[in-house]
Amino acid sequence: MTAVNSPPDWWKVDLKQVDACLAGVHRGKVEELARSPGGRPVYAVAYGPVKADEATTNLSGAMGCGDPKTYLDESQPQSVIIVGGCHGAEAEGVNGVVNLIQALETGRDYAGIDRSKLVELAKHYRLVLIPVLNPDGRARSPVSMRGIAPEQALHIHQGTWKDGSPVGYPACKRYQPLDPSKVSFLGGYPNDAGYNLMHDATPGDIRSAEVAALLKLIGRERADLVLHLHSHGTLGEILPPNHGMLDLQRKRILSYRRRLEACFAAHGLQSTPIPVRDPADTWLCPLNLASMTSLVSGALSPVYEQPDGSNPKLPRDYPTMLEESMVVFEMFLEWGGKERFSPRMEMFNTMLDSAAVPATYFPEKWNSKPQANTLGG
Ligand SMILES: [Zn+2]
Repeated sequence: MTAVNSPPDWWKVDLKQVDACLAGVHRGKVEELARSPGGRPVYAVAYGPVKADEATTNLSGAMGCGDPKTYLDESQPQSVIIVGGCHGAEAEGVNGVVNLIQALETGRDYAGIDRSKLVELAKHYRLVLIPVLNPDGRARSPVSMRGIAPEQALHIHQGTWKDGSPVGYPACKRYQPLDPSKVSFLGGYPNDAGYNLMHDATPGDIRSAEVAALLKLIGRERADLVLHLHSHGTLGEILPPNHGMLDLQRKRILSYRRRLEACFAAHGLQSTPIPVRDPADTWLCPLNLASMTSLVSGALSPVYEQPDGSNPKLPRDYPTMLEESMVVFEMFLEWGGKERFSPRMEMFNTMLDSAAVPATYFPEKWNSKPQANTLGG
């Protein structure tokens, strides 16, 4: 690797470095969620108490009976799941999560920077951190994409056919799985079986143990926020919402797009400018893993794309890339204190308050005023 791609010691993205970080966890609880096709463990680290109330039904059943409390008491602390390393060569999120774990354990990240504000914010949540969802992809990826030419980056991210040509983007998405016997190099995107976890998103036919375990975890935690960490060659951005997300979740994600812009500006960081008329108001990203994670528990499931420093016109040094991760974590945990992440209650209220709802459908709303009132709480 070139000098530009020689990271400082605190840039922890190698699987052995992730393991070493997890071996030092005392305040949190480490859990092996799944094994990848390559036999590599997928770990989660949990902090804070689990929700104490009991669900008698799932989100669907709660909406069907018109009583959100049958699924979740919204006065319970929120559960936040942060997912790094879905795509192996997008190392920035891995570094962010590993440094967040170190901060939660010691008050400082691996760079020695005091993160007490973040640690304080985290105390209000149940936090489950997945440093590397796709360890197979991470195992075949470099420490970062800084200084790597675009034509080379194509091979690193999406792999190489046996004739030496790149699989490329977005052509890589034509194959799910990408047949490992047809390539000389799988690239960082898929796991060892060729599955791009971001597109392992067919309900009832989830193919990877990694995604199956993530969806199960979200259900178990009744997650309020699932933050997906990815990287790209431009500026930081919360992506437009995805197809398959519920209307109110889409609106909330549009708000976070603007919140990130304001938050980065306040920290002197650049982000993708969001026009007054945001194209994302009418445009949706494809159905993918973020859509799936939003449906399990009604969790807000934004995708944060972090700059990877590969674009020479938009250079990023390692300290800036660490800071961008930490600022995003802080932004979400701050906003979660002002407004619950998931718009579940608005979903219920919109449904129940609609004049178009026939009185026979939710008779309790009409027969029992106190119950109707509690729905606003
Ligand atoms: Zn990605």
